[in-house]
Order: sequence, then structure tokens, then C-alpha cells
Amino acid sequence: MRQARVLIAGGGVAGLAAARALRLRGIDDFALLELEDHVGGNSRAGAVNGLACPLGAHYLPVPDDAAPEVQDLLTELGLGHRVTGRWRLSAQGEQHLCHSPQERLYFRGQWQEGLLPVNDVGPQTLAQYQGFAQAVTQAQAQAAFAVPVSKRPFRQYQQSLDAITFDVWLNQSGWTDPYLRWYLDYCCRDDYGAGLDAVSAWAGIHYFASRHGFHAPGAATMERDGGVLTWPEGNGWITQKLAAPMGPRLQTGRIVTRIDVLKAGVEVDAIDADTGQAERWVAERCIVALPLFIAARVVRPAPPALQAAAQAARYAPWLVTNVHLREPLDDRPGAPLSWDNVIHAGQGAGQLGYVNAMHQSLSPVPGATVLTHYRAFGIHPAQRQWLYEQTWAHWRDGLLADLHAPHPDLAGKATRIDIMRYGHAMAVPVPGFASHAALAALQASPKGQRLQFAHSDLSGYSVFEEAFTHGHRAGMAV
Ligand SMILES: Cc1cc2nc3c(=O)[nH]c(=O)nc-3n(C[C@H](O)[C@H](O)[C@H](O)COP(=O)(O)OP(=O)(O)OC[C@H]3O[C@@H](n4cnc5c(N)ncnc54)[C@H](O)[C@@H]3O)c2cc1C
Repeated sequence: MRQARVLIAGGGVAGLAAARALRLRGIDDFALLELEDHVGGNSRAGAVNGLACPLGAHYLPVPDDAAPEVQDLLTELGLGHRVTGRWRLSAQGEQHLCHSPQERLYFRGQWQEGLLPVNDVGPQTLAQYQGFAQAVTQAQAQAAFAVPVSKRPFRQYQQSLDAITFDVWLNQSGWTDPYLRWYLDYCCRDDYGAGLDAVSAWAGIHYFASRHGFHAPGAATMERDGGVLTWPEGNGWITQKLAAPMGPRLQTGRIVTRIDVLKAGVEVDAIDADTGQAERWVAERCIVALPLFIAARVVRPAPPALQAAAQAARYAPWLVTNVHLREPLDDRPGAPLSWDNVIHAGQGAGQLGYVNAMHQSLSPVPGATVLTHYRAFGIHPAQRQWLYEQTWAHWRDGLLADLHAPHPDLAGKATRIDIMRYGHAMAVPVPGFASHAALAALQASPKGQRLQFAHSDLSGYSVFEEAFTHGHRAGMAV
């Protein structure tokens, strides 16, 4: 039997944030149990042929004042500081701001700047872009949208948006233009793993209203709205920094199978993935930084709020493919290789394009690189089965087909293709989920309670700031 004052189950961003919070409180006697060989969860770093690349999350928007916990983390990492009370990036932090050109779209046979289809779209489309931008501004005036969501409680306006799908809301509001809808669907799949017919209208609007707004052509670009931080290994850069001070308190290859609250403490069973041996841990308290569907299986007995939240959760599977190229791809007409490169296809096509791992390199001569290609599969459970059953060759061929039109030379220059399958990558903000009372109940465990819950699922959708803030709260409260 092994002992620690506090146990953390799960080593994603939330679990690592909880560990950092314990460290800040001077609590050293803790252990973090993570089933994989490396921590980071969806924000893990990878490498192909020696070149760093993301295995999942690849960027963090520069946090605003709604996310002071994330600002403090970046300060600790040397990337930010406070000047007369206001937080801003330091000179070192600015080096990690995504360089230009940031985004391009392969549309009608050529690359255009930005992801909103603009080349030769008609006046009706442009009018809908303008109108939707105004609708987002109006939504911002009606209610506060913030990341993390827990900082701005849901008001009636958000509740009513959360009751219907984004698709229904768009139809009701007259936003029917196919290019506008393609772009909105792309944004939902990119952030939420499912399209506008699956996510709530709250989620669809939150995407724009909480951060950078919606910019119709000619308006200010996202680059002027604080920008995004990125690294060759994606957000794995941050999770590796979070894990670095933990030493032997980090117990990887440990599959938590049972978390039991007893009168005197918490008992946790885990399996050592290398040896297959069962281990028993006892602790005074435990932070459950696991996805809801797993937490509901291992916490015994699962509290009613956990059962209800897990039942309401819908998860999107994702596929991440890292392609090592021995030399740069040929230039095609239009905008140059950017950080984020998206191919325009039909609504619901699943592919989300690729990011270039060498984008932040200052070398004047482009050379070998890794392209990280993303694909999200929505909420239909059959998609998960399909992702599970298909072979590597199937996904390789799918990738080459997806990128063939803009990059016919890719197959000849690729030296290695690695795939990463996530069966339950992220909770999708389907109608009613983000405002579900059970999520609020799980966040409201009183200070000092034996179990604290921490995971991005508690926000109803998954981004770094949500995961980190839940982990920090739990680490401070346990
Ligand atoms: C492909 C992809 C791309 C993304 N891109 C971005 C992005 O660019 N920017 C962004 O902000 N967000 C992005 N996200 C969202 C991302 O999920 C969050 O940023 C964040 O990493 C979530 O952290 P978490 O701790 O809440 O969850 P998780 O990452 O799910 O962490 C949970 C951890 O628990 C572990 N675990 C599970 N079961 C057990 C068990 N039984 N025992 C022990 N350990 C267990 C898991 O292995 C995992 O490490 C992306 C997600 C995916 C899938």
C-alpha cells in the first residue's frame, strides 16, 4: 500500500494545474497517477524523425483578464508580467506569438489569406458576413461571454441559446449563406469536435463572442486581437514545463480503476501498465482530473451529479496525423504556407487542415518539417467504431487524398506518417450540456471535501483555459 496526502487521478492540463496549485500551497506530499507513459493528455508533445510536433492541442490564445490563473502561469514561465497592475506578454512571451502568415484557405483552386471564404464570393455572401458580425456584437452586448466560462455565470440569454442547436438558431435568424455556414461549421468542428448541427447556439456564439469577435472582410483581423501563442510541439511545451518540477510524484503508466471515499480518507486502486500489477494508494484527499465518463466509472459510489453529468456528455473522436516531409512542398498559386492551412470542402467533411510545426522557425531557408493534420468526427458513436477499426493505411490514404489538390507532391516528399487516435477526445457542447446543473454541482465541492473534480469536461467543452482553471481551483480547494 502506498500513501500520499493528496492524490491526483489524471495528468492532462487539469491534473497538472492541480499539482501546480498544491506546490504553490506548499503541499509536497502528493502523487499524480496518469495512465499514459507521458503526461499532458490532449496537450501532449510528440516528435517525428527528431522534429517536435503536437500530438493534440497546438495553441493558446493570449489570455485576457477573465483568465488570471493562466496569466499567472505564463508569468511563472517567463512569458508575461504585470505592468502597473495590467498583465501583458513579456518580450520572451512575444517570441512565442504566432508569426505571420497565420491562416490560409485552399478555395476554388488556390490559397487565399484567412479562413473565411472571400475569393469571388457574391455580394449576398458579403452582406451575410457583415450581418453575422453585427449579430455577434449584439450578443456581446446582451451578455458576458468569457473564457473560462465559469467566470461568467450563464444568464437567461445564454440559457436560451443553449437550448437549441446552432443550426436551428442560424436558420431562425436567416443566416443561410453556404459560405458563411461552411465557415461556422468549420469553427465548431475545430474547437468543439462537432459541427453546427450538433453544438448548441450558445457554443456557436461563444466561440466568437468570448474572444475575437467575427471579422467580416475588411475588418480588423484576429492577429490584432491579442494573438495566439504556439510552439513546434504545440501546448505540449506548456505541459512539459508543468510536469518538470514534479519528479517522482509523477506516476505515469498507472491506470486508475477505483476511487473510494472512506470515512478516514480516500482509497485508490491503480494498475501498473508495465507490469500489470495492482497497486493500492491511500490519501487524505483526491482530485479527480479525469474525463467525466471515466470518473463516473471509477468513483465508487459515483455521486448523483457525476452520474448525471456523465450521462449527458457526448464525446467527439479525433484523428491527428503527423507527416514528416524531407523538403518543403511546392508553392501553389496564392497565399504562402501559413501556420494553419485549411482546405475548403463540403460542410461536415471532417478534415480541419494542418499546422506547420516549423512555422516559428527563424531559419531563412525552409527545410524538413512536420505537418500536423486534424480531423474531428462529431458525436455519432458509429464514427468512433470506424476510427477504431480502420488501419493506418486507410488514414494515410485519406490524408493524401484530402491534401492532393493543393499538394500533389506531398506523397513523394513524406518520409513518415504517424497517426494518433482519440476515441473520446473532448466533450461536445451539445444543447443543454454547458448549462447542465450537474456540471455546476461538480465544480462547487466545498473546500476541504475529500474529492474535488477537475477536467475541461466540467465546462461543457475543451480548451486549455477551461482545463487549467478547473485544475487550479481543485488544487486550491482540496
Ligand atoms: C486533437 C485535439 C486538439 C486540440 N487542440 C487544442 C488547442 O489547440 N488549444 C486548446 O486550448 N485546446 C485544444 N484541445 C483541447 C484540449 O482537450 C484541452 O486544451 C486540454 O488539453 C484538456 O485537458 P484536460 O486535463 O481537461 O483533459 P485530458 O487531456 O483529457 O486529460 C485527462 C488525463 O487523464 C488521463 N486518464 C484517463 N483515464 C485515466 C485513468 N483511468 N487513470 C489514470 N489516468 C487517466 C488521460 O490519459 C489524460 O492524460 C484539443 C484537443 C484535441 C483532442
